[in-house]
Amino acid sequence: MDAVFTNGNILDVREGRLLAGRTVVVRDGRIAEVGDAGTVPASQRTIDLGGRTLMPGLIDSHVHATQASADFAEMTSWPSSYATVRATGVLRDMLRRGFTTVRDLGGAEAGLARAVREGLIEAPRLMFGGPILAPTGGHVLTRVCDGTTELRRAIREQMAQGAHHIKLTLSGGVVSSMAIDALGFSEEEIRTAVEEAGFGKGYVAGHAYTAEAVNRALRWGVRTIEHGNLIDDESIALFHEHDAYYVPTLAGFHALTESGAAHLSDQSRDKLRDMLDTGLRALERADRAGVRIGYGTDLHGEHHSYQLEEFTLRAKVQKPADILRSATVVGAEIVGLPGEIGEITEGAHADLLVVEGNPLDDISVLTAPDQNLRLIMQGGHVVKNELGFGA
Ligand code: ZN
Ligand code: ZN
Repeated sequence: MDAVFTNGNILDVREGRLLAGRTVVVRDGRIAEVGDAGTVPASQRTIDLGGRTLMPGLIDSHVHATQASADFAEMTSWPSSYATVRATGVLRDMLRRGFTTVRDLGGAEAGLARAVREGLIEAPRLMFGGPILAPTGGHVLTRVCDGTTELRRAIREQMAQGAHHIKLTLSGGVVSSMAIDALGFSEEEIRTAVEEAGFGKGYVAGHAYTAEAVNRALRWGVRTIEHGNLIDDESIALFHEHDAYYVPTLAGFHALTESGAAHLSDQSRDKLRDMLDTGLRALERADRAGVRIGYGTDLHGEHHSYQLEEFTLRAKVQKPADILRSATVVGAEIVGLPGEIGEITEGAHADLLVVEGNPLDDISVLTAPDQNLRLIMQGGHVVKNELGFGA
């Protein structure tokens, strides 16, 4: 037996409620039993939660683990071995904030994912896609692909390495040399990428800001839309029609705004203005319409310290229970592990957090992990435990 948690308030993320006085048994890295007090035998590995909240580990559906600096020009000069060591620090810090799973949207590749899988480094579960694919002139830190032949070659290579998804640049962006409303890739190219990623049982994630870029992507089979600040009513209908997911990334804009965006060009700084505002409005619109929304942050370098701020930012337009669903059960669907992660249910991986307070009442309890996050367990392995084991 790995551990028994007693006397906890279990956060039922699906229903948005706390279940009081429950006992959870963890065995062989999985949640073996969820029961009432008294039904489970005491163990050497019992942890009395004293009424604290036991919740599933968090899922960030838009990270860049290997972008350990916000200065992209400087980062391109790094030897790959150095970049990898820097990435391990970024990943360790994510886990210590309570993120037990992350989806990397550009940069992480097979070697890093293998090191995580083998337990060589302390890190969240890592779903990687390899380099971002962009057309000529498209974006920074990407693999350039023009035409369907180059796309097929790149995607076949990345899927053969075990990529979980393929990331395409479908419009300009803040740090891109393309205008925000410029489009990346033709219909033929996007449909080809969707087909080819599907052959490898993956899917396409699309970086897109404008309604035009988002809507053509959804129509042609892109499964997750990243950023999407300027979506419209048609986008909402298309999300529903195509069972697609929306992954806003407010923390990234917030961090750049707060830090003065010192590394950005004047052009990028201009584009940044209003991004937080349009992003919040898009999130509100999608939330009210019942679109399935993932928790994403899109941070780089020292800005990773803002990873939990996404909770605070979203709370301006969403209820805590809905934000929590984005960071747990919806994230699990996005990474293809529904029922396996993101909820406290029998058979799921034991990715668990113990927090002070009730995040359904006050989401900000999650944003101060030093004070409130008392225990982190990942796959039954204790990462942090300030509560100790009882007898
Ligand atoms: Zn992007
Ligand atoms: Zn990104």
